[in-house]
Formats: sequence, C-alpha cells, structure tokens
Amino acid sequence: MSKVLIIGAGGVGTVVAHKCAQNPDVFNEIVIASRTRSKCDAIAKAIGRDNIVTDSVDADSVEQLVALFKKHRPDIVINVALPYQDLTIMDACLECGVNYLDTANYEPKDEAHFEYSWQWAYKERFEKAGLTAILGCGFDPGVSGVYTAYAAKHYFGSIEYLDIVDCNAGNHGKAFATNFNPEINIREITQKGKYYEDGKWIETEPQEIHKTLNYPNIGPRESYLLYHEELESLVKNFPTIKRARFWMTFGQEYLTHLRVIQDIGMASIEPIMYEGKEIVPLQFLKAVLPNPKELGENYHGETSIGCRIRGIDKEGKPLTYYIYNNCSHEAAYKETGMQAVSYTTGVPAMTGAMMFLKGLWKKPGVFNVEEFDPDPFLDVLNKQGLPWHEIFNGDLEL
Ligand code: NDP
Repeated sequence: MSKVLIIGAGGVGTVVAHKCAQNPDVFNEIVIASRTRSKCDAIAKAIGRDNIVTDSVDADSVEQLVALFKKHRPDIVINVALPYQDLTIMDACLECGVNYLDTANYEPKDEAHFEYSWQWAYKERFEKAGLTAILGCGFDPGVSGVYTAYAAKHYFGSIEYLDIVDCNAGNHGKAFATNFNPEINIREITQKGKYYEDGKWIETEPQEIHKTLNYPNIGPRESYLLYHEELESLVKNFPTIKRARFWMTFGQEYLTHLRVIQDIGMASIEPIMYEGKEIVPLQFLKAVLPNPKELGENYHGETSIGCRIRGIDKEGKPLTYYIYNNCSHEAAYKETGMQAVSYTTGVPAMTGAMMFLKGLWKKPGVFNVEEFDPDPFLDVLNKQGLPWHEIFNGDLEL
C-alpha cells in the first residue's frame, strides 16, 4: 500500500491529483492538502474517487507540516505549493521520515534568486535518514533533465552544447496572464538572463538575447534567452557541456505588458505601505491578474518543449539531436480541467513519484532528476499524456 501527499491545490496540484487518481495501482491513497482547504475539496470532488482525502496546512510552518505528516503518514510528499515552501517541507520530511519531490527550487521570498545550494545542503541529512529527495521534477526543470540524461545514456559519448527550448504557442484570449503562479513567473522573467559557457556563467540584461526558432507543428517564434534553474545542475552532472542555454518564447503583447508592469513598479517585491498596511506590489498584482487555473477553458494551441543537443556520439562522430514533446491546451483541459503548462508540470511530478514508489528512483540523498535512470520515466510519459519525439542530425538553429 502506498500513500501520496500532494501539497498545493493550484493548477499543477490539480493535474498531479488527477494523474495520481488515474493510477490507483501505484497511488493507493491520495491526500491533498493546501492553505485553502476548499480548493482541495473542489479537486477531490471533480475527480470523484473515494481514496482521496483533503486537509489544510500552512506549509511555511514546519510544526503544522509535522502534524499533517504524523496524521496521514504518507510515503512521499509531492510539493507543488510555491518554491518558498521547499525548505520547510524538506525539514518536516526529515523529522517524520517522509520522502520528497518538488518541481521548482527554493527561492527566498524577499529575493528573486534561485539556486540549488539551499536544497543540495540537505543531501547528507537525507542520506543519513535513508530518504529520497527528488528535485525539480516538472517539465523544465524536470523532463528537460531527463531528456538530457536519455541523450547521454543512449546516443552521446559527450554532450557539448545544450539548448533547452520552451515554446508556448497557445492563446488564452486575455490581454495579459501568466501560465503559472504570476508572482513566481514574473520574478523569473524580469531577472537578468544567464547562460553557461566554457566553465563560466555569463549574465545578460533581461530579454537581451533573442532569436527566431522553429518549433515542430508550430512554426517560427521569437525565443528569448533567460536563466533557468536546471542549467545549474545539468552542467554539474554533465561536465562535458561547453555551453548550456535556456530559451523561452514570448509574444510582443506579453513583453509590452511586462515592460509597463515593471516601469510602473508593479513587479517590485519590496514591501510598501498602502493605507497603513504593508503590501508587496507583485503580490497585489497577482491578486488582480487572471488566475492561471482558470485559463484552460478558452485556451487553444500547443506548447512545445525540448532539448536541442550537439556533441560527439558514442562512435566519435558529430551528432545533433532534438527531443521534444508538444502538448495541446485543449486536450489537457479536456482531461484535467487545466491548461497545458499546468499539465506538462503535473504529469512529470506524478511520474517521478511513481518512479519512487516502484523503487526505480529510490536512493538515499538529494538528487536532480538527471541523476536517475531516464528510461522507465520516459516510458511512463509516453503512456500518461506526454509522448516525446526525436530528430537526429537535423538543423538545431542554435
Ligand atoms: P498556484 O499559485 O496555482 O498554486 C499554488 C498552490 O500552493 C495554491 O493552492 C496555494 O494555496 C498553495 N500554497 C501557497 N502557499 C502555501 C503555503 N504557505 N501553505 C500551503 N499551501 C500554499 O501555482 P501553480 O500550481 O501554477 O504552480 C505550483 C508550483 O509549480 C510552483 O512552485 C511553480 O513554480 C511550479 N512550476 C514548475 C514548472 C516546471 O516545469 N518545473 C512549471 C510551472 C510551475 P492558495 O490557493 O491558498 O493560495
């Protein structure tokens, strides 16, 4: 018997819950807990299975988490709350002997800065406790790392150039909305860009470097270089990499809105006093922007996310390789009531937990996804709604 605890009842949490419920042979019992219990109840009701229970928790409090873990005794927790809660949830896991998985690395609330050091620092404690922590198991980070590991395992003697390309060619009909938590999303996009080359990190201005890339079944889209957390672990785990970059598409309309939001100070995370109350402008903005959970109904088009890799194959010949998935917003909505960005994050999170519960990704310590065997994971993705495709020796455009 295995029990999973899902923390967070947003767009991603909804997809994780649906996908776990679709696999009752692995996830015998499901607990959904979040700050607002009514949101967990709504998810449980939409799924309509009797092996799901709900609860409430403030995941900023280790004490509350410990009480929750002791009450439900899960085998693994899937953390799809916000990156601010990663460390408190990891602390509670250590205290109660629970395994851990998340989709985004820790960020302090008062600084838009993400790096793995805070979570990697838990390695020894997880090792000693005999517990597994799987970090960054969404799509990117997540599948992007697994794709890279798959390329290294099966095709490359050495990976030299890695470009992760993330295109959302969907249209939700709103003037401006973010596809996942607006606060986290805007913090990510408005910070400086960064990429890795010849052993060094090179910083750029936000959206300084961009290029038109062609995406399968979508066509050309302007793609912007930005920093993404999986670059940090991938260059560490694949030391032959000479250059690693991350690209994401944005439409002109989106970028114009973003510029205005920044220019008028609404992207700021510095608290200000408003009518005697301290507020954070970006958190206030989140409250007035469309809820990403509610974008799904009118969302059309596809996402396309993949890895474009150049290097030397196992026989010593040059090789280019492109591995990607396209995901339809309409199909994701039909299946789970959520759009493709939540779907492409939630399916890998469920899959990672499945790998752990089946004993395939189970080793004491703290690991990024590329440190596990990619084959069984990719096999499950093919069957769970995120099939992947490969192009050998094509033009990578990069
Ligand atoms: P949402 O904002 O839609 O949902 C977050 C959920 O977490 C909400 O239910 C929220 O509760 C809950 N929550 C927030 N703070 C706490 C707290 N202190 N205690 C308990 N619950 C809390 O976000 P998304 O679903 O869009 O994203 C979830 C995560 O997935 C984020 O960490 C995001 O960075 C990550 N992500 C990863 C991607 C990847 O590919 N790796 C891509 C997209 C997202 P309430 O409803 O009460 O506010």
